[in-house]
Amino acid sequence: MTKDEIKALAKSLGADLVGIASMDRFEGAPKQMDPRYIMPEAKSMIVMAFRVMRGSLRGIEEGTFFSNYSAMGYGGLTYNYIPMTVINLCRHIEDEGYEAIPIGHQSDWRGIHNDGRLKKNFSVPVREGYPQPDIMIHLRIAAYLAGLGEIGYSKMLLTPEFGPRVRIGVVLTEMELEPDPIYDGPKLCNKCMACVRECPGGCISPTKTVKVTLAGHEVEWGDIDVAKCNDYFSGGQRVAPGETSDYIEGRDDIKRASHTPFFRRPKKLYNSGQAVCGARGCTRACMISLESRGVLKNQFKEPFRRRRPWQVDWSEEGNVRFLDTDKKEGNSDHEAD
Ligand code: SF4
Ligand code: SF4
Repeated sequence: MTKDEIKALAKSLGADLVGIASMDRFEGAPKQMDPRYIMPEAKSMIVMAFRVMRGSLRGIEEGTFFSNYSAMGYGGLTYNYIPMTVINLCRHIEDEGYEAIPIGHQSDWRGIHNDGRLKKNFSVPVREGYPQPDIMIHLRIAAYLAGLGEIGYSKMLLTPEFGPRVRIGVVLTEMELEPDPIYDGPKLCNKCMACVRECPGGCISPTKTVKVTLAGHEVEWGDIDVAKCNDYFSGGQRVAPGETSDYIEGRDDIKRASHTPFFRRPKKLYNSGQAVCGARGCTRACMISLESRGVLKNQFKEPFRRRRPWQVDWSEEGNVRFLDTDKKEGNSDHEAD
């Protein structure tokens, strides 16, 4: 099969965007993130982007329906839709006589934490010089290496079609396919810093950056406090010294924050989705910025943000108020400006 045939097939199976990376582009990757240890004879990585519906962010933007982004835009894509597409693509590749691995999720079995530290007493390498199982493929970097877009200051993959509103699935295969060029289109991230300003946890540093070289290209993003993001993502906020709270059961160092209307952290949806912050900085603010600059191909008739952003004031226990209204309770935040 040719590259164009593979791409057309992947799109017919449900992918929105498809790019091909050759495996040498992973040269220099940390051992724990190097997919060549998974399939040493792999010749190509097929990287697919799947859009998160802008509508799945609507209920969080309005403050009325939080579960849809976690269910349909996060866990449902990651655990249902993307696996179906990558598995079906692999079936066609195997029918051509080439081995292929469908990878449609971030492995919970990975041997490293989110911040890259090795998990202790978790697993051991099976050969000298090998990584500790499981390897974690850095999906955004894979997408960059397949030419699907650039890495923004927020460390999110920004695609020219959907901006940060995508999730990624990959297929590793022994089939040799012509690689796509690294993205060299119009610059998407203009360092507007909306992601930094609107992240409820201040998790993206405005000054400290991380620089890496990917396939010979210098790439830089803001340093992310991933542990803090993990708390704020699910609606939590670190308490001040001496303060206690119970937003997340079993942790008295996390209280509910102004970006959640929930008294307690809601349950996970589809195993992973718990995105109470609705990616307010790294996705919603960035998308609004990119859309307002007219740089995205997926255009809408109406702007995303239509009302003032809301915040909940939890300062008096049980007395929910909205900060940018004079009323003590109610939902006047939903009135049009
Ligand atoms: S919000 Fe602005 S600075 Fe942040 S990634 Fe998007 S375009 Fe870049
Ligand atoms: S997921 Fe939420 S808390 Fe984490 S960086 Fe994005 S906006 Fe901030």
